[in-house]
Amino acid sequence: MQDIIQLLPDAISNQIAAGEVIQRPSSLVKELLENSIDAGSDYIRLVIKDAGKALVQVIDNGKGMTETDARLCFEKHATSKIKDINDLFSIKTMGFRGEALASIAAVAQVNLKTRTPDNELGTTIDIEASEVKKQEAVSTPQGTIISVKNLFYNIPARRNFLKSNAVETRHIVEEFIRIALAHPGVSFVLENNDFEMYHLKSGNLRQRIVALFGDKINNQLVPVEEESEKLHVYGFVGKPEAAKKTRGEQFIFINNRFIKSAYLNHAINRAYEDILPKETYPFYALFIDIDTNLIDINVHPSKQEIKFEDERLVYTFINAGIRHSLGRYSITPSLDFNQDVDTNNWEAFSSLPSSKPVVENHADKIFVVKPDKTDKFQQRKEWQELYQIMQSDVDVSDEENSPLIEKEPQEIYNPVQIHQRYIITQIKSGFVVIDQQAAHQRILFEEYMSKLKTQHNSKQIQLFPKSMEFNPADAAVLTELLADINALGFDLQPFGNNAFVLHATPADLENVNENNLIEEFMEQYKNHQQLTGLSKRERLASSLAASASIKSGKKLSAKEMASLIDRLFACENPYAAPNGNKTFVSFDNDSLEKSFKN
Ligand code: ADP
Ligand code: MG
Repeated sequence: MQDIIQLLPDAISNQIAAGEVIQRPSSLVKELLENSIDAGSDYIRLVIKDAGKALVQVIDNGKGMTETDARLCFEKHATSKIKDINDLFSIKTMGFRGEALASIAAVAQVNLKTRTPDNELGTTIDIEASEVKKQEAVSTPQGTIISVKNLFYNIPARRNFLKSNAVETRHIVEEFIRIALAHPGVSFVLENNDFEMYHLKSGNLRQRIVALFGDKINNQLVPVEEESEKLHVYGFVGKPEAAKKTRGEQFIFINNRFIKSAYLNHAINRAYEDILPKETYPFYALFIDIDTNLIDINVHPSKQEIKFEDERLVYTFINAGIRHSLGRYSITPSLDFNQDVDTNNWEAFSSLPSSKPVVENHADKIFVVKPDKTDKFQQRKEWQELYQIMQSDVDVSDEENSPLIEKEPQEIYNPVQIHQRYIITQIKSGFVVIDQQAAHQRILFEEYMSKLKTQHNSKQIQLFPKSMEFNPADAAVLTELLADINALGFDLQPFGNNAFVLHATPADLENVNENNLIEEFMEQYKNHQQLTGLSKRERLASSLAASASIKSGKKLSAKEMASLIDRLFACENPYAAPNGNKTFVSFDNDSLEKSFKN
């Protein structure tokens, strides 16, 4: 018999493979945005025409590609991200199969322009149905511009299968939001038919959520932060009273990848048991970092599913983490709710949720919603307005503004220091009084936590290394903390017999006596051990924040005050110092006026 088996030409096998990866315009969006992020971009512009059916274009300022790479990236299994089989198991980058661009090029007309920083000229390639039409040198900005036109132009059956523009646009926006949420440090623009739908400045997660979902959400967010050895859960959940009738604003990310998990949704919803109005769904954007050995992400790119080695553990952990946060933040401080809002007691007008640490087993009691008072509470907008003022002054994506300390104080703040302890500054609806020490502790705490996560730090080498001795118990504690301490920019080394030598301190440490810093830190750490509910790192960061912060009694310049205010309100949780004390209280004009009347 004659041989009848034929090998499919590449173009056709690519088309078949493309069917799995590229299902609709939003799949292009996902693959291209992820590639731009992987390329280290901090600015990404997505341009859509005709719901992505006519054009999906992504412009980034990432590392770009060389001439050869620009050609190779469209080959099947072309990837710079997997060097050996072990890489497959640690999913650090977003895409990792090296088939997205090959698939895209099989089912659309693609133009790529790209340039690396060390080349003056870039390269441009036209490719259609896997066939290279043209490649030549071109003058183009550093980074990559990839334009995908007429998706499925060569597979009419698939093109006809696409849904209405409204539906396809919704899919694109959903994909865009997921990726933007997972990368608040990257600024994103989404331009749809020449209309700028989103213009997201880089910032922290809270700022990103507000930019995506509107100012109103700002005072409805409750921070979540729970860490154990194997798991770290962080992000925000919505206050129960802000829950919506529709699902949709619910996001779970595992190791920064968006996933869908009915099981984890359940864990979250259970934490809201008894406190959610019927048939309503809370907002959440939760990030779960977990050792990649303990999960099995289904590597099929279009499925965002996951299996855990120990499902129950993750369930319980997330559930507890959220209960914990809800308990901590929805605690109804007597001053806020139990007193009448019309009283002329100023304390009663402090409109901000207190975040005093809460003993966990009281959580159930705290989950009592008092609807009418809560509404009044919600109507108070000072925080929101304050935050808006701060936001409009602090352009987070603007490089020049980033060392805020350099900024001239804005007139709008008119900050005044009293008793060398509090800073008073005006807001639209009244004024706030900031406790300088508590505020600085919060700022430093968040900086240290983020350094511990990213391991970004700069050290300042000590001219004269300082040696110090501890008692055995303290030395043991210090030894245990050593790796994390050094991750913060210290260089502290054991020297035998409970002694240590300090070779370097973090470069940005201000206001401290370096000589006593570690000793003072140890004292703080021991005090902080009584604070339950903190992870080891949180305790470390808050102890160090306590020892390194500006203290009460220190006179501050207008510039320093402005900087402190800026940095405080850029915090994820500006309300409270790590020990739970308030960082500021606010007073509104109405109550001020009333307190003058008899
Ligand atoms: P993968 O992302 O799985 O590696 P892709 O087909 O998506 O596979 O991309 C192939 C390769 O092309 C990437 O590994 C990367 O080296 C390069 N690449 C793709 N997009 C970009 C971009 N925007 N900037 C720089 N390099 C890119
Ligand atoms: Mg990719």
